[in-house]
Amino acid sequence: MHSHASAFDVIDSLPTPFGLIRSGVAPDHQDVKNASSDFSQIFSDSRIRYFGGVTVGEDVGLEDLEECYDAVVLSYGCEGGTVMSLGDDSDSDSSTPDCVYHARKLVDWYNGRPNSSPPEFRLTEEGDLNVTIVGGGNVSLDCARIILKAAVEDQSLTTSDVTNEAYNRLKEITSKANKVNVRILNRRGGMQSAFTIKEFRDLFKMSKVGKMGMKILSSEVEKSENEESLEELKGTRPLKRLWKLIGDVSANSEEGEKANLEVRYFLSPKGYERRDDGGVSSLKCDVTKLEGAAFGQRAKKTGEEEDVESSLVLYSTGYKGKVLEGLEEFFEDGKYVNEGGRVGVRGGGGEGGSEGGSRYYASGWIKRGASGIVGTNIPDAKETVMSMVADFEGEGGGVRRRKNFEEILRKRGVRWVDWKGWKKVDEVEKRRDRVRVEEQVREKIVDLEELMTIGGGGKVE
Ligand SMILES: Cc1cc2nc3c(=O)[nH]c(=O)nc-3n(C[C@H](O)[C@H](O)[C@H](O)COP(=O)(O)OP(=O)(O)OC[C@H]3O[C@@H](n4cnc5c(N)ncnc54)[C@H](O)[C@@H]3O)c2cc1C
Repeated sequence: MHSHASAFDVIDSLPTPFGLIRSGVAPDHQDVKNASSDFSQIFSDSRIRYFGGVTVGEDVGLEDLEECYDAVVLSYGCEGGTVMSLGDDSDSDSSTPDCVYHARKLVDWYNGRPNSSPPEFRLTEEGDLNVTIVGGGNVSLDCARIILKAAVEDQSLTTSDVTNEAYNRLKEITSKANKVNVRILNRRGGMQSAFTIKEFRDLFKMSKVGKMGMKILSSEVEKSENEESLEELKGTRPLKRLWKLIGDVSANSEEGEKANLEVRYFLSPKGYERRDDGGVSSLKCDVTKLEGAAFGQRAKKTGEEEDVESSLVLYSTGYKGKVLEGLEEFFEDGKYVNEGGRVGVRGGGGEGGSEGGSRYYASGWIKRGASGIVGTNIPDAKETVMSMVADFEGEGGGVRRRKNFEEILRKRGVRWVDWKGWKKVDEVEKRRDRVRVEEQVREKIVDLEELMTIGGGGKVE
């Protein structure tokens, strides 16, 4: 690995780099998106090539990789949304009504992921937009914040790099609505909240300046304070701070002039109340209570039920990784089973290849499962690299497999966007005649064909 003969190719199914930093992290969190500049720096090294717009498992298979590379690092994230399970006594009509989606639909769309489409926004008979987000993590807060910023005309949405299409549509639907009511549902209590204080505080601050109210029921705060949860609270400073803020929000709950955010606890979805037009009018929920020992408390149905008025339901219940065909034996529960990043060996090398197979490694979400922030991936990737270094040390480190990945793509008629091509796309996206306001970093290109064409790629059919 330390050898100058080592060469690295980065293959991504999108013509644009940066994974979820570009297509997941919220557009008003530019400070987080800045992490992409560290990533860009590595491409100034001539030993690293970028193949954007090439999907492993579709355009190329593992056999192709094994003809080219001694080591393959699986770092393709978790692109599948978890399937929402409704309680056992969900209604007999098992079809999903319109306007019910995994939160990823909204996230992909507002972030301009190619081939994404908007969720359908319908208003209630009273003319309100009632959005229910199931799951209480930071992705839920992102979705809530983007919709609420559009509703209260927060300038930081205008200056963000949310796409023009999403910006205009969100502004249009929220201005048409009498009220925009966003509810975030948690199955357990306040002390088991999965969001972090920074993201929660941003919403609290919004409620203090604009036409937005924020509510937490005091009865649910009280119910959250059972003996086991108070035990969980002891000695954990971040949770203490979050719990204090939740208390402050609850004590100062008020109705907003235009928009409301309500964080609800002890509710678990069990079915839908449907509208005649095929949409949803409410999410039927079981009321829950906490059961079990501290740090392992679970939500248990109480037998009570509650309907939460909803004209749009977003399930923000996590992401799940998918296996690449041929690696099933190493895959379990949405991620690769690994030791320090080592997954296993496969294939026997191809023409000009050495004996033995290619070594497979994993890093990021597909290694650990879909959790952790961008920063969590740094020590995780270091661990994987250290394993690779140890495995290849003493073997000369040189390129043993002779096939060039580029040749395989050319032969197969697959074209790609290289790093220079991406820089062209980047330049166009940053052009001042494309942006809404001067402060907007870029207006993303969302059309796959356009991206491929500008980047010099474009698949040959
Ligand atoms: C909605 C959302 C918001 C988030 N917000 C924040 C935040 O504010 N701050 C923060 O620190 N973290 C945030 N995160 C977490 C952060 O995005 C992840 O920790 C990080 O992106 C995971 O990196 P990864 O490389 O494992 O996966 P990814 O970032 O998903 O990268 C995987 C890459 O693999 C490519 N790929 C997938 N399949 C294939 C294939 N078959 N062939 C070729 N390429 C493929 C994809 O196109 C993608 O570019 C957020 C996550 C989500 C989902």
